Amino acid sequence: MKCPFCGHLDSRVIESRTTEEMTAVRRRRECPNCRRRFTTYERIEEQPLVVVKKDGSREAFSRQKILSGMLKACEKRPIALKVLEQASFSIEKAARDTGKGEVTSTQIGELVMEKLKEIDDVAYVRFASVYREFRDVDSFRHEVERILSEKGQRQE
Ligand SMILES: [Zn+2]
Repeated sequence: MKCPFCGHLDSRVIESRTTEEMTAVRRRRECPNCRRRFTTYERIEEQPLVVVKKDGSREAFSRQKILSGMLKACEKRPIALKVLEQASFSIEKAARDTGKGEVTSTQIGELVMEKLKEIDDVAYVRFASVYREFRDVDSFRHEVERILSEKGQRQE
């Protein structure tokens, strides 16, 4: 990004965050030549977000894909679509705010689990069981019992 003060062709990103409406990325930059700082707004469409999968392959980030994953986990649960949509937006925001333009599928999975944990225990366990690929019934039951006991403690 060209410096507006001295015309130097390179600048350093100091801070990067997505605007609340998810339409732009705001970047605070510093010119390494004249040391002056300036702010740029870059439209999100021009900022592709790439997901790096476990096998190293890459694909474009899809909020829709995250939403359908959560919908599947929330099947037959009393959860409004709006709640899941909001969760998918905040997951996308968190992924973009890393500022690198790339996130791993593991990071995405953790973000989804974090959200589902706040929303619904059953949905969380369903998602976690697929995502964490519980190898046996014991580790799955262990996770379920851990959640139930946490919940029990909250209600006491
Ligand atoms: Zn400059």
